[in-house]
Amino acid sequence: MSRFSTIFDGLYRIRIDYSEGGIGHVDVFLIQNNEDDEYTMIDAGFQSTSSELLSTIHDEFGDNIRISRLVITHIHYDHYGGVNQVVSRFSSRVMMHQREMEVVNALSRAVSEEGVSWLRLLSVPNMVMDKVLKIISQERKNIPRPNQLINGELSIESISGTWRIIHTPGHTPGHVCLYNNDNGALISGDHLLPQETSNVPFYPIEGYNPLRDYLASLTTVKRIKPSIVIPSHGEPFSSAESRIGELYRHHNERLRQTLAALLSGESKITEVARQIKWSRGHFDTLSAFDKWLALLETISHLEFLCWCGVVERKIGENIRYEALAEDFTSVEAKLAELSTSP
Ligand SMILES: [Zn+2]
Repeated sequence: MSRFSTIFDGLYRIRIDYSEGGIGHVDVFLIQNNEDDEYTMIDAGFQSTSSELLSTIHDEFGDNIRISRLVITHIHYDHYGGVNQVVSRFSSRVMMHQREMEVVNALSRAVSEEGVSWLRLLSVPNMVMDKVLKIISQERKNIPRPNQLINGELSIESISGTWRIIHTPGHTPGHVCLYNNDNGALISGDHLLPQETSNVPFYPIEGYNPLRDYLASLTTVKRIKPSIVIPSHGEPFSSAESRIGELYRHHNERLRQTLAALLSGESKITEVARQIKWSRGHFDTLSAFDKWLALLETISHLEFLCWCGVVERKIGENIRYEALAEDFTSVEAKLAELSTSP
């Protein structure tokens, strides 16, 4: 089912319900560009919900609407799945951040021999690996081809003001938010959510440190001081700064748990993940896909600790991590730096 609502004049939301995978729903947005019935769409929901998305648009806007542009906040299947269907109906120009191409390439590598041996190196349990490879092979077929790759500052003019596209890496390397310069609204994608802590998954991409980049992007948003945050999952909220504070504390606690697991003698990623308190329950009780997300997030925390100099990665038969220090002070210092850096 899809539900239409007006966020404010010139910004509309279509909520797409989705029961699988514990997602619940995802929101798609329409920005009215001008009085001429021309719109910019932000994300497109799932592939399987694209017909209902198109019929909701038709019911609300009639035949004259044109969707000239489609901005993908990030390349996850609940956000890009319906893009190709929207494009074939409206011939929209598709835009996404240049760094999302690294994710597309990583997905291609994941299903190759190189990717499978990397998964083995991480000692990913077989059941999780089978599920992940199946999902990736399916989703890859549907990945849209962007007409324009975002790199640097870009703005969209609309009847509600100028929307600035802001690069907020962390949930993915090329995740973007849209900030309305005139009324302070922020369309936050999955970067900043009111209830859930966004997954910060590791991607095997040179120079990318997901948690470091995620925390820095939270600071970018804190500095902007949005008047309202409009997420892809959940209701709009006004307290960006306090939510960001909560997320910093959450990751601080998780980094402590990660280091404690290493200090207790664990070194394999799966074993470390078993020691972490996950919001959806103990690691062993998670679904295969949630286990995968938990493993990727564990690597992000381990890599962050490596960046802080308190942990070392060792590659042998498997990838292992070893604690170099018991003291959390240097991690605290890095967190403090990230929370204030420009
Ligand atoms: Zn999402």
